[in-house]
Amino acid sequence: MITVNGRPVPSGGTLLDACKHAGAHVPTFCSDEKLPAGGHCRACMVDVGGRLMPACTTPCRDGMEILTETETVRQYRRDLGELMVAESNPRGAVKAELEKWGVTGERYGRAKPSGIHDESAPYLRLDTDACIRCHLCVRACSDIQGQFVYSMQGRGAGAHLGWGNVPFNETDCVSCGACVASCPTEAITDVDHLRQAADPLRTVQTTCAYCGVGCQMTVHARGNNVVDIQGAPSPVNAGHLCVKGRYAHGFARHRDRLTTPLIRRDGRLVPATWSEAISYVASRMNALKGHVGGLSSSRCTNEENYLLQKWLRAVYATNNVDCCARVCHAPSAAGMRVALGTGAATNSLADIELADLLMVSGSNTTEAHPVTGARIKQAVLRGAKLLVVDPRRTELAELADVHLQTRPGTNVPLLNSMACALVEAGLVNREFIHARTDGWEAYEKFIRQWRPESAEAITGVPATLVRRAAELYGRARHPMQVHGLGMTEHYQGAEGVMLLCNLALLVGAIGRPGVGVNPLRGQNNVQGAADMGCQPDLLTGYQNPNDPQVRERFERVWARPIPTTKGLTIPRMYEAIRRGELRGLYIFGEDVVQTDPHAGLVAETLKQLDLLVVQEIFLSETAKLAHVVLPGASFLEKDGTFTNGERRVQRVRQILDPPGDARPDWRILCDLMAATGYAQPFRHPSEIMDEIALVNPAFRGISHARLERNGLQWPVPSMDHPGTPTLHATTFPIGKGRLSCVEYLPSPSLKDAGDKLMLITGRTLAHYNSGSMTRRTDNVRIREADLLEINDEDAARLGVDDGAQVRVHNENGEAIATACVTDRVQPGTLFMTFHFPESGANCVTTDVVDRLCDCPEYKLTPVTVEPLRDGR
Ligand code: SF4
Repeated sequence: MITVNGRPVPSGGTLLDACKHAGAHVPTFCSDEKLPAGGHCRACMVDVGGRLMPACTTPCRDGMEILTETETVRQYRRDLGELMVAESNPRGAVKAELEKWGVTGERYGRAKPSGIHDESAPYLRLDTDACIRCHLCVRACSDIQGQFVYSMQGRGAGAHLGWGNVPFNETDCVSCGACVASCPTEAITDVDHLRQAADPLRTVQTTCAYCGVGCQMTVHARGNNVVDIQGAPSPVNAGHLCVKGRYAHGFARHRDRLTTPLIRRDGRLVPATWSEAISYVASRMNALKGHVGGLSSSRCTNEENYLLQKWLRAVYATNNVDCCARVCHAPSAAGMRVALGTGAATNSLADIELADLLMVSGSNTTEAHPVTGARIKQAVLRGAKLLVVDPRRTELAELADVHLQTRPGTNVPLLNSMACALVEAGLVNREFIHARTDGWEAYEKFIRQWRPESAEAITGVPATLVRRAAELYGRARHPMQVHGLGMTEHYQGAEGVMLLCNLALLVGAIGRPGVGVNPLRGQNNVQGAADMGCQPDLLTGYQNPNDPQVRERFERVWARPIPTTKGLTIPRMYEAIRRGELRGLYIFGEDVVQTDPHAGLVAETLKQLDLLVVQEIFLSETAKLAHVVLPGASFLEKDGTFTNGERRVQRVRQILDPPGDARPDWRILCDLMAATGYAQPFRHPSEIMDEIALVNPAFRGISHARLERNGLQWPVPSMDHPGTPTLHATTFPIGKGRLSCVEYLPSPSLKDAGDKLMLITGRTLAHYNSGSMTRRTDNVRIREADLLEINDEDAARLGVDDGAQVRVHNENGEAIATACVTDRVQPGTLFMTFHFPESGANCVTTDVVDRLCDCPEYKLTPVTVEPLRDGR
């Protein structure tokens, strides 16, 4: 026991912990809960038995008597404050504290302004005059984001904050805002901070609506505007955010927002009332019954996705419903269901901290899932090993112990050869294989044929590297895998994922914390859209419509028959439209004309429809073709839930009103259901979730009330169940894990490719998918157009200069981009982003799909590149 100002408190932790426990105020300028104590600012001195000691770094010892407000302490603080103002011009919280200490600036004088200000970056503002050298920004940048932009330059009284003697926008800063969040003195601020009133009117905690990491954020709003977003404490992001989550919110009040329903009349989309639009859509959909389908929205909430598939199934008796999981992680779900019985991440993002080896396959994590990418970087800086499988030299590949730089389209031979190396090196866990897997005998015989030395000719990866990777993976105690679309968007995408599962099963890295196979889900709620049953073969909760027990449950709750005939996937819907069999399509929050492959054909296909309805927040490329456009709400304007890539169902909370006549999407769907004779009783999304819990056994224990704190990871089979951070602890839903023997079948794209270059498409940090949201924010100042990465050798051969405009083309169409000549890509390989409609990246991607689940092969497109001369 110790005492603080005479009050007994338990000893343990630091003096600062004890003072907090006792409710005693101790000033700290260099302390941040996200970082270990630094002891730089010396503001937290307290009196311990007559001696001054730093509270943040001194451990408690039994019997200590701590005093926080003695005259010695006050005198010390005043002296410290006078020294601080002699060296800097603190602002914000520091300035306020110094004023409380009675600091006047008379003792040693006041610092002269140095004039080092920088406003070159779109969001951050730097003014080193206010810097008190607390090092928090330096540590936040290195220890949270792993970016190392800042340093303290110089020594002693001349030390000052620096970033490499270049304008700030030329540094490696990724605009995550961790430095702003930690700076106590406004030496580093941001445009939101400057806009923020001292006392914003409203605050909610909600879930980021960009990627599938699902970061928790605290949103401040004044009037109907967001003024500031901060990271919230959560197991998902521990208070950290990326440039999209923290800053890219300006789209919500952008003048391009749809504010009224639109109906096409005489070839033009013209404003209509809600009652006109709803009755128009209802009557046309009813007239086309038997020939309709719908695409659901991975950007919208679980409750809304649930309603869309319920409407199509119950009213139109069709399973023609799909979502963008089809074009990203459907192969993960399919492959993992075959191997493990559940098509979702086996572990939690927080497990990255437990892993001693991370294997990142086909994922540019630091750009596509930035907060998870930062977490992986931190794990590596702490000593975890890193394997990267990727044709590109990504940021993580640069940090990797082994980078397996494959030729595009060769994941299957690469992973088979790595498994062979594991078996040959005797690094497999025979006990686990015997107890928990099926198919070992046949598999062992099969896999021994895949020696890395033979696979090298196909993959281009030296056998020594494959054997080294297998050695590291096989010897790790906690080898944890994450994978992205570089693994799934291939002709053998689902089979590639089965091979990732093989690796985990071979070494027993399933069913415990810190290991597993974890798809990094792309869109914020693509996991949820699939969970809710927006798939043509499975109902809510991945349940089989042909199972009589399942059907009975749904029919009881829905009071309608459940269709049992398998519906159409997105590519099959397009084929059916071209055959004239599918005549009405309802597209909810997806811009397929920009994001689906062979975009020219997609647009021509949609034009053949008798009815195209698009529910959207902007007039997207797809909405421009619609017969009816219904204006929905952004995630800031409605309640509900999203499910992130680790199966965590989290709350989405409204803080703004939708603009104009736009409505929350769940209301629009309820209105349509009522207008089509299937009125729903829901007054709030929480009531929809209550119904989801009735039909989906994995959600039986989920309600909005139970999600209040950190959400819950499904399955949650009962109302007192705490959720499931780790799947397959003792058994698999299919009994035993399945080791799959997968032969390599080269993609049709590789046949007759001749000397064409192979294009891979993907995301960049500042933008998100179709870019409809991020392009309407200052993120365009970070990246204003799509880039085409091309290797130096190819660029020289083709006469392409860095920064020049190039034409990328094949028989499907052409795309235009700015060339970035780089050795991040290998000779023969190109990489291009697809965020800007004017560049048309998806005009060239092909119709080749995963042979098991119809996911397009975005990562392998044969193209020709030529420089554009005089704009042609
Ligand atoms: Fe949002 Fe993803 Fe960035 Fe997190 S990492 S803030 S979820 S975009």
